[in-house]
Amino acid sequence: MRLLRLARLLAAAVTAAASLALSAAVANAQNSSGKVKCIVLDPGHGGHDHGCMSKDRKYSEKNIVLSVALKLGKILEEEHPDIKVIYTRKRDVFIPLAERADIANRNKADLFLSIHVNANPSVVPSGSETYTMGSHVSDKNFEVSKRENAVIKMEDDYTTKYEGFNPDSPESYIIFSLLQNAYSEQSIRFASFIQDEYRKGPLSVNRGVRQAGFLVLWRTTMPSVLTEIGFLTNAADKARIITQDGQQRIARRLADAITRYCNDYSSRYGTGDDSVPEQADSAATPKAEKPEPENQTQTQELPSKTQEQAPEPQVQESPTRYSIQIMAAKKRLKSNSSEFKGLKGVQNIYDKGFYKYYYGDYKTRQEAAAILADVRKKFPQAFIIGIKNGKIVTR
Ligand SMILES: [Zn+2]
Repeated sequence: MRLLRLARLLAAAVTAAASLALSAAVANAQNSSGKVKCIVLDPGHGGHDHGCMSKDRKYSEKNIVLSVALKLGKILEEEHPDIKVIYTRKRDVFIPLAERADIANRNKADLFLSIHVNANPSVVPSGSETYTMGSHVSDKNFEVSKRENAVIKMEDDYTTKYEGFNPDSPESYIIFSLLQNAYSEQSIRFASFIQDEYRKGPLSVNRGVRQAGFLVLWRTTMPSVLTEIGFLTNAADKARIITQDGQQRIARRLADAITRYCNDYSSRYGTGDDSVPEQADSAATPKAEKPEPENQTQTQELPSKTQEQAPEPQVQESPTRYSIQIMAAKKRLKSNSSEFKGLKGVQNIYDKGFYKYYYGDYKTRQEAAAILADVRKKFPQAFIIGIKNGKIVTR
């Protein structure tokens, strides 16, 4: 029985992955301008789903996150009039998890931000944390995703709608470790910007960027993160997140993180500019938890192999070559993987927790730029990279 259920889940996951990949390709085709044009703000919970609540039951997550989202949207509308801001809800209504992601997918959004408040049986844990889609490596992260995913139980037909996904069953989460998320790297960059901005307060504890299997993120076909702004179960956090002033300050941090993401995005994916974009700043370095041990072993082999295979005899003095990065993924893919959409000779470099897959080998950036448009027909977010001594040196 167990096996049968698992097999059914996996089959559903593969189907979902295929349809997601398809819709991602469609969504991306609209978005090759190199600019963030549409952002979806997703205040969690709503209606009969209160989310977590303070002990005195005076304050609920659904109201706090709605207030933060509306304040954030207002700042964005003032400071980024060119960006369309869409809310999954602007009122106190219940929206199913799947519908939240669908709103973002339908609108071909470039960024999805889900806003939540954390809770813990203990009053001690405090601070903010931001999640990207992935498989959890710690029980703490699992607990958070389990709690946030549990809201699907409030939907009438959740067993059919979510293909038998059971938020409480660890085996349901296996699907998350099997699926590639084409937007992992961008999602982690955005999450890093958020956590970096949070350092300016109002909360004092910063719990960093984490990964776990959130259904709402899994279904989106764009970079997406879920931020837990603080703990309603912690007195110090609560004092800040329930006030208008505290919420305004959190909205400010999120707006600044979005601005940084937009600038970073256009410097990486913008078109018509051959100049070398600035190096990623320190906050942009993905700070997600370390890859699993099996990945680490592969990592250590990789750069040396690349060096061994380099045609130049003097590896140390080799000049920078240019190539086109088509994607980044947590997992190592076979060279004939269908993920490469027929491109032959795709190579990879392990860099900052990701396998960066790149295509082509050119002496100059201009030569790489000449075929970039063609590659973008298959990979709309492809961009030029420089490679020196088996390492990515420019982006
Ligand atoms: Zn929540």
